[in-house]
Amino acid sequence: MGRYIGPVCKLCRREGEKLFLKGERCYSPKCSFEKRGFAPGMHGRTRQGRQERESDFARQLRAKQKARRVYGIFERQFRRYFGIAQHAKGLTGYNLLRTLELRLDNVVFRTGLAINRAQARQLVNHGHIQVNNKRADVPSMLLNPGDMITVTESARSKTYWKEVVDFVDKRLCPVWIERDSKNLSARVLRLPERSEIEGNLNEQLIVEYYSR
Ligand code: SF4
Repeated sequence: MGRYIGPVCKLCRREGEKLFLKGERCYSPKCSFEKRGFAPGMHGRTRQGRQERESDFARQLRAKQKARRVYGIFERQFRRYFGIAQHAKGLTGYNLLRTLELRLDNVVFRTGLAINRAQARQLVNHGHIQVNNKRADVPSMLLNPGDMITVTESARSKTYWKEVVDFVDKRLCPVWIERDSKNLSARVLRLPERSEIEGNLNEQLIVEYYSR
């Protein structure tokens, strides 16, 4: 599955808010959005001024694009997740966000083993992660409560993981994941509640977008 490889800061500027796609830089004055908090392109500043007059469709589209960009997913896969969410029991919007949260790359990121989802995806692709003691190199793999992620023995000797051990404890970890910082492992305890899913996402608008 392909992925967006262009400048990620442009995505924040396009969405009109910080999406925290880079890691530490997002919290520093170097953040592009802090310096140029308007949409990219020739008409960026003008477009920003028009946001209050956005149509319903534009708001629905932006909500969907924002969620896609936060999780780094292409349209086809995102639509597939929506289909799964629609057929599952319960609220479609919540089901969708929950599915996105349970992706392996997202869990690696949420656990604090990577500074952003792009890095988490790379770590998974490069075979650094195993799920329930079996190598897992597909970032879109969906985890279930009880699943355990660990770093493979061969990867532990790499400089990256030696450094992560020292500061992973300083990174936040959601309550639905139990982290063992010393052993660089984590277990999904349960499904995340809606209130535990960060990112200021509006799932209702996404549902409206796909229900047109
Ligand atoms: Fe977005 Fe982070 Fe870039 Fe700031 S530094 S614009 S929050 S990706």
